[in-house]
Amino acid sequence: MVAGLTKTRDSFVSGIDSIFSGFSSIDDDFYEEIEEILIMGDIGVRATQEILENLQQKVKENHIKQPEECKELLIQSIKEQMEVGETAYRFEHEKSVVLVVGVNGVGKTTSVGKLAGKLKAQGRKVVLAAADTFRAAAGAQLEEWAHRAGVDMIGGQEGADPAAVVYDAVAAAKARKADVLLCDTAGRLHNKKNLMEELKKINRIIDKEYPDAFRETLVVLDGTTGQNALAQAKQFMEVADITGIILTKMDGTAKGGIAVAIQSELGIPVKYIGVGETIDDLQKFDSEQFVDALFS
Ligand code: GDP
Repeated sequence: MVAGLTKTRDSFVSGIDSIFSGFSSIDDDFYEEIEEILIMGDIGVRATQEILENLQQKVKENHIKQPEECKELLIQSIKEQMEVGETAYRFEHEKSVVLVVGVNGVGKTTSVGKLAGKLKAQGRKVVLAAADTFRAAAGAQLEEWAHRAGVDMIGGQEGADPAAVVYDAVAAAKARKADVLLCDTAGRLHNKKNLMEELKKINRIIDKEYPDAFRETLVVLDGTTGQNALAQAKQFMEVADITGIILTKMDGTAKGGIAVAIQSELGIPVKYIGVGETIDDLQKFDSEQFVDALFS
């Protein structure tokens, strides 16, 4: 877990540690320093305020006097801020259709490829649907990933109806007795009405043609874009029933606190993080482990 998070870990740990060792008493300056570090790490203003309030209460309740003794309480407060209930991965075990949405460039196709590889390695039969027919080369790129992961892919011509691709892919998934159908779908946020219609149409087809499949809709967000990622997620939540998040490029940022902001603001679990460009660079996300890794 820590390997892909080196940048975040280094900046957080040294920053936080210098606060705990640099202050001799718990005062306003002490809390302000913590606030600054958390905000710098992209935890976001609101979540940071709530974490600090929680920390202050814990300090009071536990009659803590020494700054070093606050570290455990801060870790606890961040974990509590990230609580989103239990994160289920039913699609890893049941016959499922997973729709993956996200705007261009966030790492959507790469994440679909990595996820296909991961599921395949777990012994599951995977079919990919290249339903992002809007972007030229998206299908070819996904095909490369399908090849890399050793799974089948159903595609369409550029500009084809994405719902028609999904229809064909559902038929193929049923015929080949696939466990998981992973659909790479478009994410044109500048045209929300069309996107909503497209996703509705896709969902109607799956409802009708594959009613017994478990359903999941994951949004892919670029972790290096900080609060923009949060804004994007909110827009997707307006057009789709998002059940989880894949947060990519976490290896390329020192501001991994965005994972805290996302779970805290949206109440939706980050299910995976991307920590590199190869097929193995997708990790299951666990809030507690994440926070422990950052502060260890
Ligand atoms: P899409 O347009 O959303 O489908 O994005 P792509 O899957 O084409 O990815 C865009 C770029 O981001 C590519 O160069 C990927 O290799 C890169 N990328 C995707 N995920 C990660 C990640 O977790 N870490 C790093 N470092 N790069 C990533």
